[in-house]
Amino acid sequence: MSSFNVQSTKALMDITARPELVFVKGEGSWLEDHAGKRYLDVIQGWAVNCLGHNPKVMLDALSKQSQLLINPSPAFYNQPSLDLANCLVNSSVFNRVFFANSGAEANEGAIKLARKWGQKKRQGAYKIITMQNSFHGRTIATMSASGKEGWDKKFPPQVDGFPKAIMNDLDSVKALIDEQTVAVMLEPVQGEGGVIPATPEFMQGLRALTKEKGLLLIVDEVQTGYGRCGTLFAHQHYGIAPDIMTLGKGIGGGVPLAALLSTEEVSVFEYGDQGGTYNGNPLMTAVGVAIFDALTAPGFLESVNARAEQLSQGLLTLSAKYGLKGERGLGLLRALILDGDYGNDLVLAARERAPEGLLLNAPRANLLRFMPALNISEDDMNTMLVWLDALIAEVRK
Ligand SMILES: *Cc1c(COP(=O)(O)O)cnc(C)c1O
Repeated sequence: MSSFNVQSTKALMDITARPELVFVKGEGSWLEDHAGKRYLDVIQGWAVNCLGHNPKVMLDALSKQSQLLINPSPAFYNQPSLDLANCLVNSSVFNRVFFANSGAEANEGAIKLARKWGQKKRQGAYKIITMQNSFHGRTIATMSASGKEGWDKKFPPQVDGFPKAIMNDLDSVKALIDEQTVAVMLEPVQGEGGVIPATPEFMQGLRALTKEKGLLLIVDEVQTGYGRCGTLFAHQHYGIAPDIMTLGKGIGGGVPLAALLSTEEVSVFEYGDQGGTYNGNPLMTAVGVAIFDALTAPGFLESVNARAEQLSQGLLTLSAKYGLKGERGLGLLRALILDGDYGNDLVLAARERAPEGLLLNAPRANLLRFMPALNISEDDMNTMLVWLDALIAEVRK
C-alpha cells in the first residue's frame, strides 16, 4: 500500500488526533508506514512492547499456542495461565494472580478486591486514597481513582471514595485517613503525570503508615512493572512489599494482557465476585510466559540498566548543551524537561524528519517521555540521541 485514504478514517470514532499515516510493519525499535518511510520508535505502544515490535519469541509463542488451544473458557484451567501465574508468584512477594485484558481492568479488580477486603476485615471501609496527577485507566471507576486534571468533571457522577493526596507528601496522605479508608494506591513512578518517581522516603513512609493503620498498599505497576524501571517490578527499588499490585502493558509485550496480584491474606474474592470472558486466555498467557522468560534471562535487566544509563547521560548532555531543565525517571522510563512548552513541536518535527522519522511522546507540553523497547540496541539509542540533538536545535530556533 502506498496511498493513504483519509476518507476511510471516518469509519473510526474520532477519539484522538492521529497523524495521516498508517503503520504497516514493525521490527524491533523500528516501524514502517504505508509509504515505506521508517521510524525509530521510542514510544513502543506507550511502554508496552518491552521486547520491541514483533519479537521472535512472541511470534513463536503465538503460532505454537494458536495451533493447540485458543479459548477453553476461564471456567477451566489452561496450562499457559497456570505457568504464567506461577512465574509471577515465584518472582514476587504475591501469592495469587487474576489475569485481565487491560491495565484499567486490572485496576478495577484491585479496587474491588480492596473494597471486598474492607467489607470482610474493616467494617465496610471502602475509601482508597490515590494521588493527584495519577493515572489508573479509563473505566468510570479508574477515571475516578485517577487524579488527572479535569477528569473529575468528565462523566459525572464519579465513583465515590477516591480522596486525592499529593505525591511525595506523606502528611497529605495522613490527613485523608478516616474510619472508612481501606487502602492507598499509587504508581511507583507517575507515568502519564510526567514521569514523577515516588521518593524512597515517601514509598517507605507509606508502607509503614498503611501497616500502622491497618490499610492496604496498592501499587499500580501497569507502566512501571516488567523491567521498565530496571528491576522486574519498580516497588523493588524501594525495598517494600505491597499488598496488591497490578500489571499491564509490558506483561503482554504488545498483546492484551494484564494482571492483578495479591498476598494470600488479601486474596478474599468469593465465587462470583470477579471474572471476565477472556481472563487468563491461553493465547495471551502463552505470550506472557515467553515475555517473562526473556525478561528474566541472565543479563537482561543488566542491559536494561546499561541502556537507561546511556539514555540518562545523553539527555543530561543535551540538557546542558541547550540550557534545558534536566532529566528524571527510573530505568527506561525517563523524561527530558524542556525550557518551554515546545514538546508537541518536537514530536511533530521528529515524526516528519526525513528520510527516517522518530516517534517521540510529550505527555506535557514542557517535557518529552522516553519508553523505548527494553532491548533497544546501543546504536539505536545513540541514533535517537543524535537526531534529538538536531531536532531540539531546529525547533528552538
Ligand atoms: C496505561 C496505564 C493504565 C491503563 O492501562 P490500559 O491497558 O490502557 O487500560 C493504568 N495505569 C497506569 C499506570 C498506566 O500507565
